Amino acid sequence: MEGSCLCRGIKVRINAKPDAVHVCHCTDCRQFTGAIAAFLLPVSRDKVTITGYPSGYANKSDAGVTVKRYFCGNCGSSLYDIGGQETNMYYVHAGLFPSRTLPAPGKEIFLRSAEEWTIRYPGCKVSETEVKNLGP
Ligand SMILES: [Zn+2]
Ligand SMILES: [Zn+2]
Repeated sequence: MEGSCLCRGIKVRINAKPDAVHVCHCTDCRQFTGAIAAFLLPVSRDKVTITGYPSGYANKSDAGVTVKRYFCGNCGSSLYDIGGQETNMYYVHAGLFPSRTLPAPGKEIFLRSAEEWTIRYPGCKVSETEVKNLGP
């Protein structure tokens, strides 16, 4: 599947069909995206092809690990995040891809910072903090 940023200067191709979207409610994802949750496709690095020149910003996450977040320096679209223990994983922002092409949410994480009025997606595993606390 192929997506792009708003200005189409950066293209993101995923050479795999992801199983599920992860919904992250952490405060860093809120500020990075400007939305109240991030919708992410976890994909191993070897399955992702980026065309163009993303800008990056790194900081320590809510979970205490360094996360590097990439975005389009021209239009500001959130592109993908790399970090934590899973350094071979890209967390690609799902909104880059065309409508009605995404798998359903499978995990919601950092529920502790979710707005109280948000509702949970059916069938999702949930964690108050990071994804590793969800178990296998
Ligand atoms: Zn752009
Ligand atoms: Zn997050």
